[in-house]
Parts: sequence; structure tokens; C-alpha cells
Amino acid sequence: MNPTKNPSCLVCGTTVTTVPTFLEYKGEEIFVFDPVICELCLEKLCERYSTQCANCGGTIPPYSHVGILKAGNGQNQFIHMTTQCNTPGNAFYGYWGKGTVREFVQIEACS
Ligand SMILES: [Zn+2]
Ligand SMILES: [Zn+2]
Repeated sequence: MNPTKNPSCLVCGTTVTTVPTFLEYKGEEIFVFDPVICELCLEKLCERYSTQCANCGGTIPPYSHVGILKAGNGQNQFIHMTTQCNTPGNAFYGYWGKGTVREFVQIEACS
């Protein structure tokens, strides 16, 4: 085993020369460290698993941090973790994965 060997894409097996994989998708910059994935597959994942920001209507690509808004009825809305979109009253954030939230963390409420 050679530790300096380039990793290969988890999806298609193509050698990935640059980790993290960088992709600009609909104006969003995405850096993916984990899993190792090639740019082409990452773009497909973005097309398939992106969600929409409830605030600005923009695209939230997979493998990025999201703010989570409780919309009632067990429904969640997702927003960008940016100063423009993330409201001060927002108490939840998570990590948007393949069409689902991978981590779900409640921030201590500071009233
Ligand atoms: Zn690939
Ligand atoms: Zn937004």
C-alpha cells in the first residue's frame, strides 16, 4: 500500500487528483473532503440531492452546512448558513447530505 497514491472516486472509481473536490454549482461553492468523489459525480449528486433555501430560494447543494427552520407538522425548512440567510433566531443547524440531514445540532438558545 502506497499512502501517497491518489484516492479514487467512491462512485465511479476514477482517480481523484485533488481532495477536497471543488465544484461551483449554481453559484454555490462546494468543497467535499468526505467522501472522496470526482467532480462529475459530485455534480450529479448536486442535481439529485440539492434542496432549496427557504430564505433566498437559492440552491443548497449536498455536503454543505444548513440552517434548519421548524416549519411545523414535523416539516423542516433549510436555509444557507450565511449571514444573509441565517436568521439570529434560528436554533438549529445541520449538515446536508444526500437528500437528508446528516447531523442535527441544536444551538444553545441565547435569549
Ligand atoms: Zn466519480
Ligand atoms: Zn439562502
